[in-house]
Amino acid sequence: MKTLVLVEHSEGKIKRTSVEAICYAKAMGGEVTALAIGTLDSGALAEAGKFGASKVLHAADTKLDHPIIQVVASVVMQAMLQEGCNNLVLANSPLGSPVAAKVAIRNGAAFASNVVELPNTSSGFMVRRSIYTGKAFAWVEMKSDKKVIAIKKNAAEIKETGAPVSPDPFSPTLDEKDFNTKVLSTHKAATAVSLPEANIVVSGGRGMKGPEHWGILEELAATLGAATGCSKPVSDMGWRPHHEHVGQTGVKVAPQLYVAVGISGAIQHLAGVNSSKCIVVINKDADAPFFKAADYGIVGDAFDVVPKLTQALKAAK
Ligand SMILES: Cc1cc2nc3c(=O)[nH]c(=O)nc-3n(C[C@H](O)[C@H](O)[C@H](O)COP(=O)(O)OP(=O)(O)OC[C@H]3O[C@@H](n4cnc5c(N)ncnc54)[C@H](O)[C@@H]3O)c2cc1C
Repeated sequence: MKTLVLVEHSEGKIKRTSVEAICYAKAMGGEVTALAIGTLDSGALAEAGKFGASKVLHAADTKLDHPIIQVVASVVMQAMLQEGCNNLVLANSPLGSPVAAKVAIRNGAAFASNVVELPNTSSGFMVRRSIYTGKAFAWVEMKSDKKVIAIKKNAAEIKETGAPVSPDPFSPTLDEKDFNTKVLSTHKAATAVSLPEANIVVSGGRGMKGPEHWGILEELAATLGAATGCSKPVSDMGWRPHHEHVGQTGVKVAPQLYVAVGISGAIQHLAGVNSSKCIVVINKDADAPFFKAADYGIVGDAFDVVPKLTQALKAAK
């Protein structure tokens, strides 16, 4: 079995979700080839070897720096053909999902998106998918020899199983007609840590009473190295920017730690956070629904609890 992993990168590093994808492919067995597209330092890309890739390909053409779905899908398919890979594993990201669907259709492969854990191969090849915005799971049998698997964050444990591998240059044929959109400029959201990628998220709800009180959440987030998020009403009221809105109609996060402060835990909010590894809830109402989804809960006033928590974390550091 040979598997190609599409490696996404940001700010000169392989994204964590792509590291998970390499670990996922490695755990499936067989040979793993990692493919990165666009400008990336070869030392940073070589790290793919540490997580299980035995070969690393780099399509470094600067024309690929702003990924276009059709172009990336074509590059991926050319790499799969060259390497004899019948499987593709990639992150279920805004880039990964459409690329996965396109490759699956073109290759006639079985396709599973939103996959949340390693496959069960005791009888066939079964994967567990998150469905209905995380409110339910489906077991799916992938019946083809060719498989395309798009994994959600936290689907695979990150393990170092090898050593860095020097990337080989990969020069796919680029078809001008695939470049049918052009990125004119990109503007980074002002937050220090990107919310969808964050390992820790500190999120606030209407219980914070107003935008002027966000300082205590920002201080907690800075102490933890976390991104800040919020509930929908908070962004609707303009207390926080819309890109921080977490939930069914906002950003879906899957951090190692989600700290929810003054958020009731409505089903639409939970839909965006229920893939988090650990949820800590701070709410003054012991009956707030969020406590049912929490791993740890503190019943208390946010304005009392949060500064004490930040102080304790600073002292522990
Ligand atoms: C179609 C649809 C889509 C939606 N999509 C989303 C979505 O994507 N994301 C989302 O978040 N919501 C979404 N909602 C809204 C959702 O139903 C809830 O209304 C919303 O999540 C509630 O936000 P909240 O918890 O901040 O506010 P509230 O429900 O008002 O809860 C505030 C909480 O703060 C606590 N609190 C108050 N004071 C303090 C204090 N001093 N210290 C500690 N705790 C305190 C209260 O006990 C309460 O639990 C959607 C709704 C609909 C109908």
